[in-house]
Amino acid sequence: MPIPRLQQAAVVENPGVDFKVALREDVLVGEPGQDEILIKLNCTGICHSEVRAVLGWGVYNSIIGHEGVGTVAKSGPNVSPSLLGQRVGFKWLYNACTACSVCRRGFFQNCPQQLNTSRHVPGTLQQYAIADARFITRIPEGVPDEVAAPLLCAGLTMAGALAHLDHDLQPGDWLVISGSGGGLGHIGVQLAARVKKLHVIAVDSGDEKRALSLASGAEAFIDFKKEDVAKRVLELTEEGAHATIVVPGTKEAFQAAPSLVRNMGQIICVGLPRNDIEIPISATLCAARGLSIKGSSVGSEEHMSELLQLALDGVITPAVEVFEFSETPNLIRRIMNDDILGRAVVRIPHH
Ligand SMILES: [Zn+2]
Ligand SMILES: [Zn+2]
Repeated sequence: MPIPRLQQAAVVENPGVDFKVALREDVLVGEPGQDEILIKLNCTGICHSEVRAVLGWGVYNSIIGHEGVGTVAKSGPNVSPSLLGQRVGFKWLYNACTACSVCRRGFFQNCPQQLNTSRHVPGTLQQYAIADARFITRIPEGVPDEVAAPLLCAGLTMAGALAHLDHDLQPGDWLVISGSGGGLGHIGVQLAARVKKLHVIAVDSGDEKRALSLASGAEAFIDFKKEDVAKRVLELTEEGAHATIVVPGTKEAFQAAPSLVRNMGQIICVGLPRNDIEIPISATLCAARGLSIKGSSVGSEEHMSELLQLALDGVITPAVEVFEFSETPNLIRRIMNDDILGRAVVRIPHH
């Protein structure tokens, strides 16, 4: 199949409360430059963080999506021709400078000069996307497209967040994961319970999310709309959890975090609320209780390979709902309303 000049894409117009997602057929296909490849996409996961893009909480590309899986259709200068035809994943980290002190420590995902897919460059809700060949992920045979997609941001983000706890938590310790029934949360519960062997307390709302959280390995589920979360956590753990990972992008979730952990507890911040929302915690309490608060953004390529291996071994099993490309505008609304169980993956049309 020759590569066309124009393609289909879902384009965010007028970001803000009156945003619109338009399905267009006249978007130019890019031309890979130095170190770049052109990926023909098969599917893409849709991250809750895209809400930031459609509502205009920052400057984003009009083509969103950063959990793309496809095959390499064309390569630019300086790219190994062996990549052609390979199945690859295209992630939030488009590229990093590789030279700053953070990159030199191996933390490309925290590079201050990083470029992000769906923010600085067009994302994955299109038939053909340009990616930096040095930062894509090869998808092992045996991991289906729609299983790989949610691992590229949701899974990777939770793997990265959990890695921050490796030095402090032992198997059998208590971890609270809020937002446990969403795209990130349920994979986080699986990793924490099945791989890290932690006792996981899942916090979310509704029967479906309860069932998914428990099936993912949580020991207990607390419905934050019906129960006093801090009180229940204390009952289950006696002193509070050893750590909590805050996944929802809401002020309330961050507000609740300090009351869920014991003294010297760890709070890992993953959710992305509006930029003006700050972590509300008394400085005195933070010092007196010896609490640690850490931010975490995605994870490393090493975490990515481990995750794909875990998926291949059947240890990590993302809950995925697959949608047709034409359903994208409606789907974005549903994601905004938290009306998705697990991860939504959109099939990208080939013609
Ligand atoms: Zn994401
Ligand atoms: Zn850097």
